[in-house]
Formats: sequence, structure tokens, C-alpha cells
Amino acid sequence: MKILVPIKRVVDYNVKVRVKSDQSGVELAGVKMSINPFDEIAVEEAVRLREAGTATEVVAVSCGISASQETLRNALAMGADRAILVETDAELQPLAVAKLLQAVAEREQPQMVICGKQAIDDDANQTGQMLAALMGWPQATFASKVVIDGAVVRVTREIDGGLETIELKMPALVTADLRLNEPRYATLPNIMKAKKKPLEVLAAAELGVDITPRLRHVRHAEPAARKGGVKVADVAELVNKLRNEAKVI
Ligand code: AMP
Repeated sequence: MKILVPIKRVVDYNVKVRVKSDQSGVELAGVKMSINPFDEIAVEEAVRLREAGTATEVVAVSCGISASQETLRNALAMGADRAILVETDAELQPLAVAKLLQAVAEREQPQMVICGKQAIDDDANQTGQMLAALMGWPQATFASKVVIDGAVVRVTREIDGGLETIELKMPALVTADLRLNEPRYATLPNIMKAKKKPLEVLAAAELGVDITPRLRHVRHAEPAARKGGVKVADVAELVNKLRNEAKVI
């Protein structure tokens, strides 16, 4: 069974994001970029399935600029077998990514796609769902447990009331939630080995997909700065402030 894992290059989660002065977007110059954390969890899950003998091959795929090759090498160092970059300098919105991934999935014929539940830069939480719809596949989003049983995949999801377990017939799409697993660190020997693993580069333009953006960014703005707090002298002052100054926003 082949598993395809779409991964996105995003601003590292430790970076304090700054909005460009013209409000056209987020400053990316000189900023540390990394694999989207939920995609790291997706890669880990796919690699574990291969290590358990359930999957035979894990293919990482990313859509974006040439520098995304670094992100793919990261997935290879974690244990993915090979990687595909769908290269373009164009702005990619979730529908465009889903269409590009559909073209790759039609070529690769995986039995399962494991996406991250959302990209931490745009927080869209759309790509996996759109890809499943385009493929006509069943989908299980926000997976916290994945069990393969013959031709079906049983997925546990955290929902408001507790846990929900659903069964999908493969081929199927799963999106990874935070508690699915704890991704491994890539060891130095595996980082070295990853440099030799196959990484294919496809031009997005060759896939015959319309990637025109459907949404227009109007403005990006930083959240309003918070006012500093004050120290109260005693409980009586605190109660007084809560009664007379605290407001429900
Ligand atoms: P989003 O819908 O943007 O929140 O992204 C959800 C998931 O779709 C991510 O966690 C990735 O697995 C996948 N994805 C989004 N953008 C890309 C991209 N440019 N290349 C590959 N996979 C992507």
C-alpha cells in the first residue's frame, strides 16, 4: 500500500510573525521556514505504518517554490521513501493545491493520502477536504488514531462529546490532528541518507491544472497591542474593580 503525504513549507512555529508594512501579507524575508507541524505528524504516521509492514511506500509531496525541496528532505530524513515537488512561484490557495495534489494522486495511485489537518500559516483547514471531494474518496478529518484493517481504515476523531470512530473503505483520505502521534526527530545519519533519496521536480504548469487564486487578500493587520496590566493592593480593590471596571467584551 502506497501512502501519499502532502506537506507544506510554512513559517516556523517559533517565529513571531510580522505583517509587511504595506499590509499585503506576512514578512517572509530572512524568516525561518519549516515543515508544517501537522504534516510532520502525517509523515510520522505514514512511516510508522510502513515500519509495521502495513504500508510499502511513503511518498511526500509539496507544492510551491523551489525552496520547498528542503522541507521535502526533512520528510525524507524522517523516513519517507521518495519525494515530489510540484514547483511553481505562483500564489497557491487551498483549491489550487488540492487540484495539483489530485493530479499527482492520479499519477501515483496511492491507497491513502494523509494530510495535516491545517497549515499553521493560513489556518485554512480546506485542502484535505477538497482533495477528497475531487478524488471522490471518503475522508476522515482530525484523526487521533489510525488503524488499517484489510481494505478499510478505522479512524478515531476527537469531537466535542468525546471520541468518534469511523471506518472508511480505501482509497481514503485522512487528516492528522495533534494527538495522532509524537513525530520523531530526524537523526544526523538519516539526514545524510535523505540527501540521496529520490526527489522528483514537476512543473505545476505541466499538470494542466487551473491554479488561479479564487480569493483576493484585502489587508493583513497585526492584532491590537494589549494594554499592560495593573497590580491591585488587596482583595477588596480587586472585587471593586471587577464590579465597576471589568466589562464583558
Ligand atoms: P490548509 O488547507 O492550507 O490548512 O492545509 C491543510 C493540509 O493540506 C496541510 O497540512 C498539508 O498536508 C496540505 N497542504 C496545504 N498546502 C500544501 C502545499 N502547498 N503543498 C503540499 N501540501 C499542502
